[in-house]
Amino acid sequence: MTGRFAPTPSGRMHIGNIYAMFGAWLSASSRGDGVILRIEDIDRPRVRPDADRWIMDDLHWLGLDWTGEPVYQSQRLDRYEEALRVLRDADLVYPCFCSRADIRAASAPQEGDGFVVYPGTCRRLWQADPDESWRRADAGARHSLRLVAPDVSVAFNDRVFGAQSFNLARDLGDTVMRRADGLFAYQLAVTVDDLDMGVTDIVRGRDLLRSTALQLYIRDRLVSLGFGSAGGERNDVPSFAHLPLIDNAAGRRLAKRERSLDMGTLRGEGLSPEQIIGYCARLLGLSDASANDADDPFGTPMSLDEALERFSWNRVRSNLA
Ligand code: GLU
Repeated sequence: MTGRFAPTPSGRMHIGNIYAMFGAWLSASSRGDGVILRIEDIDRPRVRPDADRWIMDDLHWLGLDWTGEPVYQSQRLDRYEEALRVLRDADLVYPCFCSRADIRAASAPQEGDGFVVYPGTCRRLWQADPDESWRRADAGARHSLRLVAPDVSVAFNDRVFGAQSFNLARDLGDTVMRRADGLFAYQLAVTVDDLDMGVTDIVRGRDLLRSTALQLYIRDRLVSLGFGSAGGERNDVPSFAHLPLIDNAAGRRLAKRERSLDMGTLRGEGLSPEQIIGYCARLLGLSDASANDADDPFGTPMSLDEALERFSWNRVRSNLA
């Protein structure tokens, strides 16, 4: 199995990024497998120059090693284009001319996490007259490309959150694959990359739990449409582990102590790699100290070797509070 680190180089890493990458590293290393490093730099406006080097420096400093050269999404645009072409030829994507304001106006008020399901305006136009929709798009009208979300449920088992099932139409809706500014969307790029790079062990934050259903669907469509895969074992469906986000429960304790949570600050304060690993290990349930201890969150240092010895997915809890 192959794991991955998939940071977005939008700035210095936050302790929440480190915790997810530590989880990915433990999962792969506990089986004697490697982790690839993929720099997710397709969202150009968010990319900060040099952030990729800070990321690598912080990972090195912590001892979280990866296999081979880092892969940059910005160098794989042809591949995303190819995937989009396959989806378009299969009538699975359509052009959407809606602005954000159009979508807000046509959507029901949001509850819960505020996730907006696309109301389907341009899907109906396209279904009524596909040639006209494509003609307008090809003639240069500003448009994004959306994937048609069918009314089907995608189920998977998460190593931390257990059995999951999401209905694509209801829970995700027609999702952007290429933005109106021409940039490929995260959901497309990450699915193509995980497929192409033979990633079979995905560990990341809980905010992406719902997206997993969509990524599994895109992956399945691409594979069944014969989207090329040069390596032999790429079609193994990955296993997933989503980690509870630390910005709520655990992050509050840090914030109270007025510590900034980015790696630049933490290293600048003189914390050791073992202190940071010890903190992340505690969040993962690998430490004897309670995550709720009111004492110094960095007061229980741990080496990577010890964390690895203690690691098992059974110990990782879905709730940090
Ligand atoms: N690049 C994403 C992030 O930094 C992670 C994507 C993923 O793990 O699928 O949040």
